[in-house]
Amino acid sequence: MKQPRILIAGAGIAGLTAAIALRAHGFTDIQVLERSPVIAPLGSGINVLPHAVRELHALGLLECLLPQCIQTGELFYMNHRGDRIWREDRGVAAGYRWPQLSIHRGWLQAELLQRVLEEGGTGHVHAGQEVVGVFDEGAGHVVECLDRQTGQTRRHHADLVIGADGIRSSIRRALYPQEGPPPANGMVVFRGMLWGPSFMTGRSMIIAGDGRRKIVLYPMARRVSGEVLLNWAAALPENPGAGYARGDWNQPVSPDVFAGEFAGWDLGGVSPEALMRSSPDTFVYPMVDREPLPAWSRGHVVLMGDAAHAMYPIGSNGATQSIIDACALAHHLRQKEGDLTAGIGAYEADRRPRLTALQAANRRQGPEVVIDLAAQRAPGGFARSGDVFEPGELEEIASRYTRISAMELDAVNLPSPYQPSPYQPVRMAPELEPT
Ligand SMILES: Cc1cc2nc3c(=O)[nH]c(=O)nc-3n(C[C@H](O)[C@H](O)[C@H](O)COP(=O)(O)OP(=O)(O)OC[C@H]3O[C@@H](n4cnc5c(N)ncnc54)[C@H](O)[C@@H]3O)c2cc1C
Repeated sequence: MKQPRILIAGAGIAGLTAAIALRAHGFTDIQVLERSPVIAPLGSGINVLPHAVRELHALGLLECLLPQCIQTGELFYMNHRGDRIWREDRGVAAGYRWPQLSIHRGWLQAELLQRVLEEGGTGHVHAGQEVVGVFDEGAGHVVECLDRQTGQTRRHHADLVIGADGIRSSIRRALYPQEGPPPANGMVVFRGMLWGPSFMTGRSMIIAGDGRRKIVLYPMARRVSGEVLLNWAAALPENPGAGYARGDWNQPVSPDVFAGEFAGWDLGGVSPEALMRSSPDTFVYPMVDREPLPAWSRGHVVLMGDAAHAMYPIGSNGATQSIIDACALAHHLRQKEGDLTAGIGAYEADRRPRLTALQAANRRQGPEVVIDLAAQRAPGGFARSGDVFEPGELEEIASRYTRISAMELDAVNLPSPYQPSPYQPVRMAPELEPT
């Protein structure tokens, strides 16, 4: 196979996973361009669902991640009083061969980066290089890049350009120049994290509130002392005139702006307001997504991750689907033996219809719609969820989203369809001891 020159824009979760997966599939000429001058562990908690963990495992990455995360074991939906709407097992507890990981986004990114650097040498990841455009030239492409330190522009030649540059992707803008900024739905997400005592089983996730005020809470790391690193994210309607930047994950904000909205909430002994006010740093992110696209590629320029299909942060699918995209693209390119057009076509046919359906489901609030329904039907609370929901209604909502997000147990428990055989032997799931 002739080695194509591959250029990846963005050293986030999708871009770094793509670099690792491509190498595992036998591609060797890979450069990653990252806008940030320093690839620091930014962000807070994310969840990686079992079908993406299966891919990380096939790439030999799971073992190094396990000590840095919590294997989520259960998910509760509640109202603001802690009345329980629905509980489900998650990950290994739900019968999956691979766990669901609650992990700091920056720690995951750092592990991926380390693997890329180990395999490819430091020359393969170029920090401080902002992609500003991509042009066709002969049989290949030219990527134009701004060096953020010198202010100079550089041109890189590539046979394949992968746009993994997130929700404000420059590569996407080059393919769809008319599109404009990501659309907002009027809600904003406040988030933070703090070390503190464990709650419930120590691997529980809570989603509570209603359609207008919501909090997601889970632990994502544990110290030997038993203390856990709690991640919380709270959604509220945006105050008129607040003017938060769309698509910027790192906007600090005072808890005084929002914590009072959660006064008096009691989620099984956990006070969201107290968590918010005790967190050392709090950030705001307007809830934005992207419109589904009619195509993710033009020529040998192809999108993945948030650049292709940014969604509202619902159902733990942001990082999950980006990881799967990266592995799917590497697999299809390899399957087509380096025929880039055919490989990109197969990737898009595999991934785009599923992600289009998932984007639409997340606009309808995905499985989290149950908290809204409970609040509408029983605003003052309830003793049993059976008093509020029809028999089978909650099961149907949960299983519909499971299908849309391709999380059916039997399918996920098969070996990865994208495993990089024969370049790397696939190890079976290790005995997953509780962390
Ligand atoms: C700083 C940051 C913090 C985040 N924090 C959270 C969080 O707390 N919770 C959560 O659920 N999700 C968070 N996310 C989003 C989450 O990581 C993604 O939704 C998901 O992992 C999909 O990953 P991705 O690689 O497609 O996009 P991202 O993870 O957004 O990665 C995109 C990468 O491309 C780089 N980039 C952007 N533009 C250019 C350009 N023009 N040229 C070169 N590089 C470029 C970015 O700096 C980034 O490293 C965060 C993203 C970022 C960038």
